[in-house]
Amino acid sequence: MDLQRGIPRTCDCGAATIVLTSGTIKNPGRRFYRCGANSVVANKLATIEQDLAAIKAELDDVKKDITEIIKIIECLRMKS
Ligand SMILES: [Zn+2]
Repeated sequence: MDLQRGIPRTCDCGAATIVLTSGTIKNPGRRFYRCGANSVVANKLATIEQDLAAIKAELDDVKKDITEIIKIIECLRMKS
């Protein structure tokens, strides 16, 4: 019996499928698949979250720079 039979390599949506083996008492060892798009989305989300954290850190630096610039401008104004 070919256990891979009936398990497509790609989902209808075009994403690769993930083959899983059922661990339930009713269907032990039964192989099934699900769409891999969810895990692709999860990976992309993790990347986006990392990018966002980097952007936030840069934004904090920019805010500090702006605060410094404002202080300098205020100093210059008082002198003039
Ligand atoms: Zn899919």
